[in-house]
Amino acid sequence: MIDVSTRSARHSFYVSTAWLKLRAKVLARDNYECIWCKAEGKVTTKKNAVLEVDHIKELEHYPQYALDIKNLRTLCKNCHNKRHGRYQRRNKRFDDEEFEW
Ligand SMILES: [Zn+2]
Repeated sequence: MIDVSTRSARHSFYVSTAWLKLRAKVLARDNYECIWCKAEGKVTTKKNAVLEVDHIKELEHYPQYALDIKNLRTLCKNCHNKRHGRYQRRNKRFDDEEFEW
């Protein structure tokens, strides 16, 4: 079982070869497009955004699905941040802006 119990263990996971290889596969499977933007009729690719690979069942709570391709999807940074509620601690008016953390 993959250890994701601490921030540093999760960091080790995200730099592992197994993850990086699978991540590349997910991006290819999803045609290098954010699938949430696609669902809204927008084309978001690596040309106009940063693409990230999201764990549908969150890594922290479902380590058994960490390397399950069916549990992974391509999201742009914007959608990924929204999904994880990274904006919620900030003022609402920042919602549509890009933030670097
Ligand atoms: Zn998106």
